[in-house]
Amino acid sequence: MASTDARDQPEQPDQRVPRDVLGLLGPTSPGPAVSGEPVVSGQPAVSGQPAVSGEPAFDGHRPPPAEVVADCVHCGFCLPSCPTYLLWGEEMDSPRGRIHLIGQGLAGEPLSPAMVEHFDRCLGCMACVSACPSGVRYDTLIERTRQQVERRHDRSPRERALRSAIFALFPYPRRLRLLRGPLRAYQASGLRRVVDRTGLLRRLAPTLATLESLTPRLTRASRPPRRVPAYGPRRAVVGMLTGCVQSAFFPGVNSATVRVLAAEGCEVVINPERQGCCGALSLHSGREEEARRFARDLVDAFAAEHLDYFVVNAAGCGSALKEYGDLLADDPAYAERAAAFAARVRDLSELLVELGPVATRHPLPVSVAYHDACHLGHAQGIRSQPRELLRAIPELELREIADPELCCGSAGVWNVLNPEPAAKLGDRKARDVLATGASLLVTANPGCLMQIAAAVPRVADTPGAAGSPGGRSVALAHTAQVLDASIRRLPVERLLS
Ligand code: SF4
Ligand code: SF4
Repeated sequence: MASTDARDQPEQPDQRVPRDVLGLLGPTSPGPAVSGEPVVSGQPAVSGQPAVSGEPAFDGHRPPPAEVVADCVHCGFCLPSCPTYLLWGEEMDSPRGRIHLIGQGLAGEPLSPAMVEHFDRCLGCMACVSACPSGVRYDTLIERTRQQVERRHDRSPRERALRSAIFALFPYPRRLRLLRGPLRAYQASGLRRVVDRTGLLRRLAPTLATLESLTPRLTRASRPPRRVPAYGPRRAVVGMLTGCVQSAFFPGVNSATVRVLAAEGCEVVINPERQGCCGALSLHSGREEEARRFARDLVDAFAAEHLDYFVVNAAGCGSALKEYGDLLADDPAYAERAAAFAARVRDLSELLVELGPVATRHPLPVSVAYHDACHLGHAQGIRSQPRELLRAIPELELREIADPELCCGSAGVWNVLNPEPAAKLGDRKARDVLATGASLLVTANPGCLMQIAAAVPRVADTPGAAGSPGGRSVALAHTAQVLDASIRRLPVERLLS
């Protein structure tokens, strides 16, 4: 595939990737690619928006570290892994370009709308962190930059309203759960098919249409218990995050996680009435104070428990939880506790491999394509553990997806804020998934599950689409559900239905 071609040329990292390298570009894509210099000097190559004169881009509160900017040697090895560079072919929409802009901000340039646009376009997928041979911590740079942008940049009223609506809903599991009833009624009524057919919602309210298309088919959900004992001798006491989107839209994933942990000898402490959002969405969107508030609340929710581990089954949440020590480092009341809490955080697959299996795995005759969620693979470096767990299931055949480092376009709320490019990335990932011929796609993030589930029918319904067998489909599941099915000796049809 074209993107593979681009990565096949690591010895020529500065060579520009053709603008249509992924076949993703449409007539509405931004303007022409800038020239191929490794570093673009002067103003960012975006037109149409005047720079704001006045104060330097960044203030003294947690600015992006200048020494991290200096680590970048402008080699360009990160460019072929960057979805926004592949989408738009703009230097300033590449990691190298964004680091250059951050450097300009640190040198005293004001925070122009053009700069903000390039920072906003970053998915925060951290593929560039994995790709960088110099170890540049782009994750730190973009996180601190986003915090400055949210504090210091005056967004348009429309943008402010959209972001306020998103952040008044998504980080609040109780509010999300209140939507379950009306959404289930809507899905059962057949209205969804009418909405799909007419395309009316997309024309009248594109953001709502995006949310509607991402919402999975909802099933019954029961409230999780406060505590679940280990099955057999207890090996560890484990706190568990139920999450916001996970608990509202994928309660079956949480139930499966609890069963697997219990089967592997873990006593699971859930405290559902006490825990709320972990702050991941806020942290990854630059809403620092909000993220800190959620982090303090979660640390408090489990303060009375004596936990060996705190387990997470959503990649984005896990990566944020592991950062609590840094997030609350300047809070004297929480710094130590937050760092201790973060040290106990494990992704489900990470913990299960660390503990080693005791529960018997029964055969699951199914072909599985495993998708690395960016915040698991790139942000936490967890790639081998889920594969090891899946390969240990008898009769399960594991297949790899082409270009596994490329984001599916979900990226927290990026797909809600940027529906068109997100759909292009989602379609590309769905084509790669279908090309494996696997019956089941497995991943460990609710955002990826929703994004790929929405893209598969679009791609599969397009006969002859590149890379798509046309008309084919694939079932989706979380790693926990596959392990649970194997341990409980469930028929594989339960996963494929
Ligand atoms: S971030 Fe790393 S890979 Fe990308 S240009 Fe800089 S040094 Fe090279
Ligand atoms: S985080 Fe992802 S989208 Fe952002 S610069 Fe890095 S590779 Fe590109």
